Parts: sequence; structure tokens; C-alpha cells
Amino acid sequence: MVEPGLITAAALAAARPLIRAGVSTLEIDAAAEAAIVARGAEPNFKLVPGYRHTVCASVNDAVVHGIPGGRILEPGDIVSIDAGAQYQGWNGDSALTVVVPDPDRPDVVAEREQLSRITEGSLWAGIARLARAKHLNEVGDAIQSYIELEGQKVGHRYGILTDYIGHGIGKDMHEAPPVFNYRVKQKGPDVKPGLVVAIEPMVVTGSIDTYVDQDEWTVITRDGGMASHWEHSVAVHNGGVWVLTAEDGGAAGLAPFGVVPVPIA
Ligand code: MG
Ligand code: MG
Repeated sequence: MVEPGLITAAALAAARPLIRAGVSTLEIDAAAEAAIVARGAEPNFKLVPGYRHTVCASVNDAVVHGIPGGRILEPGDIVSIDAGAQYQGWNGDSALTVVVPDPDRPDVVAEREQLSRITEGSLWAGIARLARAKHLNEVGDAIQSYIELEGQKVGHRYGILTDYIGHGIGKDMHEAPPVFNYRVKQKGPDVKPGLVVAIEPMVVTGSIDTYVDQDEWTVITRDGGMASHWEHSVAVHNGGVWVLTAEDGGAAGLAPFGVVPVPIA
């Protein structure tokens, strides 16, 4: 799964510089698709029944599953791009969030960047816990604890979506087991070599109550709160963990947690 992971990373690397004012989400979709196809892979989102695009582009109060289209990004938008590639029958899945600069509204940008930074940090906290965990559901405990602690530091109570969660990944993009982004009573499956999961906290500034738009895909906060979504596909193997959808295997993101990812031999 190393190759589809790196191809997924390349798709997001192609999308990232296009997340700026004046660009449509459809253009971002095209750039991600070109990056995947150029490497002999296939956008696995197109394999999801009824979905016709390479990425999901979720803007502002859209949390996940936003459909790319003619919407032109504006200054201050907080944009989550989710993408995945299938290569030789194996899958990658990853997401990131970027805030479009807005010189006229530095306070709005700062708030949204804080949301994205804390969401990304919670993802790395979850991956770091996976590296040491006995049971999978320790990951959600680490994510929730991180969000709560960082929220306290900035005096804001963030919400973690519970209607949507992470998942196992392999020959299918979405497999068992479920990967919770919050504390649950059950311990979950043992963490052992061969486990590959997509961890993906979805965090909002307000209530976690959402609805699905008339387009039948886009998940939107009911209270209009802003949203961020970060995701990586992570492999547990004999030597440790390796973040498949990060060029460096997660070295930079895991460093603050004292975890060193181990390449898959
Ligand atoms: Mg995803
Ligand atoms: Mg996923």
C-alpha cells in the first residue's frame, strides 16, 4: 500500500497550491485527477457508487463530501480536500484543510487556521497513539483529549463529528474496523502488524449536528459553524507505524509526540 499512499499524497500536493481565491473546486479536482492518472492509478472516489469526482471539496460550513463544481473560492474560505488513489488493487485515502488568505479579515483567517491546526494536530496525536496502542480505540481517546486540551488553551470548545468516522483501508477504500475520533467504551480490535487504517478527525467550531445537502452528498453543519478535516492512511507493521499518505512517512507530524515512523521493509 506504499505506492497508492504516495500517489494519494501527490494528488493532494497537486491540489494544495490551487486552494486560493479565484479558483473553482472543479479545477482542484482536475489537478488531483491528473496527478493520480499520471502515475498509472485510478481515483478511488470514482469507484464509490454515484460519485463522479476525484476529490471531495468541502468549503466553510461543509464538513465532508462536498462535490467539486463551479464554486469559486473566496478570500477567507476554509477548504478541506479529500482524495484517494487505487493502484494495483490497493488504496490510499487522505485529506487536508487550507484557509484561503484574506488580508481584509485577519481575525477570521486566524480563527479558521486555528481550527485547522488543532484538527491536524489531533490527527497526529491519534497516529502517535496508534504507534503505542494495544487496542485501536485508544486512537479516538488521543484525538478527543488533544482537541479538548488545545481548545482549552485557546478558550474554545470544538466539536468532533460522531456521525462520520475513520475506517480500515486495503483492497477497498472503506473496510472494517471503524476508527473513532472520540472516546468510546469498547477497546476495539488489537493493534498488530497488518492493520491499516484511515484516521480522519472532522472538527467543527460549534455543534456537531449536521445535515446532508440537497445534492445528496455534502455534509453541512446545522448551526453554520466552520469545519476542518484532516486524514492519513497509516500502516502498522512489524517495525512500527508508517504514514502511507505522507512523503516522509509522518516523521515531521509525529516528531512533537516523540514517535519515529519506521519504513516498511
Ligand atoms: Mg478520505
Ligand atoms: Mg477516509
